Amino acid sequence: MIKDLLFKLTITSLVSGVIGVCLHPFIGFWSAFGLGFAFQIISNSLYNNFVASKLANESDRILNERVDMLTRNDVSFPCPCGNNTFDEIIILQGDNVFTCPKCDQDVRLSITLTPTVVTTPLDNEKHLQRLSQIKPEEESQ
Ligand SMILES: [Zn+2]
Repeated sequence: MIKDLLFKLTITSLVSGVIGVCLHPFIGFWSAFGLGFAFQIISNSLYNNFVASKLANESDRILNERVDMLTRNDVSFPCPCGNNTFDEIIILQGDNVFTCPKCDQDVRLSITLTPTVVTTPLDNEKHLQRLSQIKPEEESQ
């Protein structure tokens, strides 16, 4: 920490010294050195604020994305006791156990995935048109 601070002060002083040497004919070495030093500190502070703001925005975006993803897993289901309806966020890979506030029992939600093939509905008009084009000889083959 102190080593890092000393390194930064050394670099800032060296750059300020270069600025002081370059501008000493116009405003004097120490004035140019001070201006260079102040300019570096202010520009570094502005840059750090900019980066922090950008990181905060990115962090907010990621957090909102996660909240959005979690709310997609929001399900509603009745308790076996019949006196309560759970409105919970479920996790597909996790163990979904919830305590019913009415009967004070732990309820595990079993998730069953049933894959089904998605098909397109039959286009009757097109099918009839195709059937009408088939000649009786072709039909018998
Ligand atoms: Zn219950």
